[in-house]
Amino acid sequence: MGQRVGCLGGGQLGRMLGLAGLPLGLQFTFLEPLADAAAAVVGRQLLGAYDDPDLLRQLGEESDLVTFEFESVPESSASLLARSGRVFPPPRALAVGQDRLLEKQLFQSLGVETAAYAEVGSDAELKQAAQVGFPAILKTRRLGYDGHGQRLVQDASQLGDAWGELDRAPSILERVVTFQRELSILSVRGASGEAAAYPPVENHHQEGILRLTLAPAPGLTPELREKAATIASSIVEELDYVGVLAVELFQVEGRLLANEIAPRVHNSGHWTMDGAVCSQFENHLRAGLGWPLGGTEAKGYTAMLNLLGEDPDPSELLTIPGAHIHLYGKEPRPRRKLGHLNIVGDDPNQVTAQLRAAAQVLRVRLPVSLDPDDIWR
Ligand code: AMP
Repeated sequence: MGQRVGCLGGGQLGRMLGLAGLPLGLQFTFLEPLADAAAAVVGRQLLGAYDDPDLLRQLGEESDLVTFEFESVPESSASLLARSGRVFPPPRALAVGQDRLLEKQLFQSLGVETAAYAEVGSDAELKQAAQVGFPAILKTRRLGYDGHGQRLVQDASQLGDAWGELDRAPSILERVVTFQRELSILSVRGASGEAAAYPPVENHHQEGILRLTLAPAPGLTPELREKAATIASSIVEELDYVGVLAVELFQVEGRLLANEIAPRVHNSGHWTMDGAVCSQFENHLRAGLGWPLGGTEAKGYTAMLNLLGEDPDPSELLTIPGAHIHLYGKEPRPRRKLGHLNIVGDDPNQVTAQLRAAAQVLRVRLPVSLDPDDIWR
């Protein structure tokens, strides 16, 4: 019998972990409170809360190793599971990933640049924090994501109201950075310390949601590629990390500023399913199992377009050469991530043209200008 993998969370990331692990002979159990979980088709679902002690015990007993598909796992759940067996990524990475202040302090301790920031936990600290400069963003330390739990602040006079709107939750104030673009890099580290990184990618958001990833990041200089890889490897080393970890970065001229980490497989790594030698999902599992890691090289150029709000008609999209559809089997809802499209090819001009064709079929507005015609210049 193959090894049994338990997973906290049963959404699309769990589903894609399952799709990558089934051919390797793995079996999956997902703990997920939502009925009709996206991952239920690739494993057994334990239906209940992430902090239900009985279900956590059951998940631990039924699994040879346990992982997570989202980072807001209650700390108590992670430690309960850690007591019963092998858990990856390490709970410390979860603790850091859940707290913007700890994240920033980790970056700082490793000499990784960030936006200017200050801790806000009291009125005195709030006043003091104005020294980071304006405009700035007040972000709650915990449970903020995709723009939630954040307030843009134009000057010191707005600080009090902004913090009040965030219920005076422990926060950080962060200077707004004028970046050229947003990048991310995914690193994978195995149980015995071997590590590799995928090429950095360029990410485009619309209304706070990732819409498009271009892999590899167009026009990235070898120096910045190297710098991104160094940042990623210093983080996974410091955390004694096992599995896939994403680092989100801002590019400001020739500098890279770290924004946050995600201690899990990541939406900006979905391109690897068709565009890299080994996908982030397979590599996450290989890392946790102590198996050799797969290649992280790009096979060509990939555009990953998230499919939001409504399911597309595959027969239309599949007329586009190089297009691979991944649907998550989720109920359509406005702006909900229902799947993604990977368009892969050897010729960047062709991939660009195919991306434009896909946008037409889907009747969506792309967040990038596809003129001039080579976005990978
Ligand atoms: P976050 O929740 O930190 O990932 O932020 C969500 C998005 O807000 C990021 O992807 C950026 O587009 C933007 N953002 C966050 N922090 C900053 C900053 N310090 N300066 C400029 N934009 C930011």
